[in-house]
Amino acid sequence: MLQGELSNKERIRYLRHLLMPQVGTQGQLRLKHANILIIGAGGLGGVVASYLAAAGVGRLTLVDGDHVDATNLSRQLIHSSAGTQTPAPLKVDSARERIKTINPYTTLTTHSDFFTAKTAAELLPECDLICDCTDNFKSRYLINDAAIKYKKSIVFASLYHFEGQLSVWNHENSGGCLRCAYPIDGEIKERASCQESGVLGVTPAILGTMQAQEVIKIVLGIGKIAAGQIISYDGLNHTIDQFMVPINPNCICQRPDEVNLDHYSQAPMPFQQDPLSINILEILAQTPAPHIIDLRSYEEMVELPDQLEECATLLPMEKESVEEFITNNPHSPYYLLCQQGVDSLVLARELVQKGWSDIFSINGGVSKIYLDLP
Ligand SMILES: [Zn+2]
Repeated sequence: MLQGELSNKERIRYLRHLLMPQVGTQGQLRLKHANILIIGAGGLGGVVASYLAAAGVGRLTLVDGDHVDATNLSRQLIHSSAGTQTPAPLKVDSARERIKTINPYTTLTTHSDFFTAKTAAELLPECDLICDCTDNFKSRYLINDAAIKYKKSIVFASLYHFEGQLSVWNHENSGGCLRCAYPIDGEIKERASCQESGVLGVTPAILGTMQAQEVIKIVLGIGKIAAGQIISYDGLNHTIDQFMVPINPNCICQRPDEVNLDHYSQAPMPFQQDPLSINILEILAQTPAPHIIDLRSYEEMVELPDQLEECATLLPMEKESVEEFITNNPHSPYYLLCQQGVDSLVLARELVQKGWSDIFSINGGVSKIYLDLP
């Protein structure tokens, strides 16, 4: 039996839970004593944090170093339009305000940094369970490896257009880990591009509530957990498939004492740290009339801030045409622009590898430009 009890106000708030045989007072006390780490305060993390707070989870820790921007608002309902004012608030600050209004009995701790090996050492030993609500490969593998090292389960989800995947990794030896499902050797390359990362606004809400439900089931010790399998949801065609993920006996998850997080850089957001990725304010300080090769698709085209439109030479083209263009139109330097700063950096790296110099990516793409230029 768990110690402590629910106040009258809590009993009223959670009445619908208390009436369920699978929850009851003991289950609600389990939720009250739970400490859940949520990494990412975007589309998934906002939903997970909201529903876990509403369900009466006593302690939530939310980690995200990002700021709210206008492109978030079609799917990240935890943030509001007010959050797109200048200066843009941190996502964790915006989320904290909302969570406070959802349930004052939940204690929310926030960390306004991206998740690193150092954050893992600080936060994982204390938490009961991790929710991976990130959207990039490097963070996912870091979270996976850290969870193995600190012997924690991860409730994982990923999104793509109308589709999403849900899984529970590293859970009580009953399933493998992310590396069992998607083995990877050596350096983790960021495969998501700006175009590929499109997602319909409701998809994170569906997968996020599935993650929250899985957390609650694990805390209560009820139901079938999505360990050792991937639940694949396709909202466009109304299908849910399940794939089994056998444990790979050679995987690092079978040797937790050998996990070494040192090879992860302290900042797992490689595109913000790359020397080829330059912030727009720095560019304008160095080059008052920059030549910008605009890689955005027709759908992504929105006007740039006046300050930039007035001084820059904008050269829209497809990425396949860039090398031929710079060959025929020598200029130094060129800056590559895309929506999120991912495609542009991948292309800048490719060109530099081929021997080109003085070609850079605009850090964070148009999304970041709108944050930096009023
Ligand atoms: Zn594994």
